Amino acid sequence: MAENKTGLERYIRQTIFKGVGQEGQRKLLAAHALIVGCGALGTAIANLLGRAGVGHITIIDRDFIELNNLQRQTLYDEEDLRQNLPKAVAAANKLRLINSEITVEGLVEDLSYENIERLVGAADIVLDGTDNFETRYLLNDTCVKLGKPWIYSGVIAAYGITSTILPGDTPCFRCLFPDPPPPGTTPTCDTAGIVGPIVGMMGAFAAGEAIKLLTGQGTLNRGLTSIDLWQLNFDRLPVEARQPDCPCCGLREFEFLEAAGERGSRVASLCGRNAIQVTIRPTPNLDLPEFAGRLAAAGAEEMLENEFLLRYRLDGYEWTLFPDARAIIKGTDDPNVAKTLYARYIGV
Ligand SMILES: [Zn+2]
Repeated sequence: MAENKTGLERYIRQTIFKGVGQEGQRKLLAAHALIVGCGALGTAIANLLGRAGVGHITIIDRDFIELNNLQRQTLYDEEDLRQNLPKAVAAANKLRLINSEITVEGLVEDLSYENIERLVGAADIVLDGTDNFETRYLLNDTCVKLGKPWIYSGVIAAYGITSTILPGDTPCFRCLFPDPPPPGTTPTCDTAGIVGPIVGMMGAFAAGEAIKLLTGQGTLNRGLTSIDLWQLNFDRLPVEARQPDCPCCGLREFEFLEAAGERGSRVASLCGRNAIQVTIRPTPNLDLPEFAGRLAAAGAEEMLENEFLLRYRLDGYEWTLFPDARAIIKGTDDPNVAKTLYARYIGV
């Protein structure tokens, strides 16, 4: 009954587990985790860390919820979909319902050169819930530069892979994968699909690593671990040493972070979506109601607006425009088409 006076009653099943204990729980409550991307993996991770009592959770995600997300993105429901909520907003709302004693921030943004050092710098640990290599190399550069641990996770089809990266200690992401794969050479959710259970497994794996790391207990995944749920293969690749000539953690040349600082518009294709995201740097602030009027005059239809986004159809494409001038243009996989459309109608 001593627990009743500690304020930790909610976590009693976790604190009587010797690996965590009350001391570990207090460390979790004092910790700040940054979850980058809140799709399938991100929701699985956020759910577990929020319930476990990680005291401050920041979720950054650039996307909104679609019907086909509900199969595996466990923090969302049909009501979120009806409200056209961005994922970061819906995930933060849900976590606050689950645990009102922690601080949760939901940021509807692209992780970029402009915000990444501030966000990573404020966190004790970074968890990868992204679906693309570009963001992972950017994260790796930043985490190595700032000396922050991060947990890489990737999931496709029924397969998952993960590594816990401790800068200056374990191999970094570029030690493991020196260069990004050429575009179009890796399977995507589009071509290979994804089953919910592997997401749950890899999300749980990453959340477990975070809890061990933040409490300073247990054995960390210092190499690459992969799970093939369908064939029932579990592999732990031997821990390799850091590569002395690794551009990132060896030579401390942060090429991806520097390249991300270039001005102008940038495009990214969104995994499994037949959609392209266009962003612009430096980031302007759009007056969405004013843009709604301007776009309606240009022929935009089926306009839908809330405080987070503006959705409409124009030229046969489905557009979603955010206050930071970011647009997701659905109906094309061609970055040049998206850039042209963006320049024509947003043109900032
Ligand atoms: Zn390295």
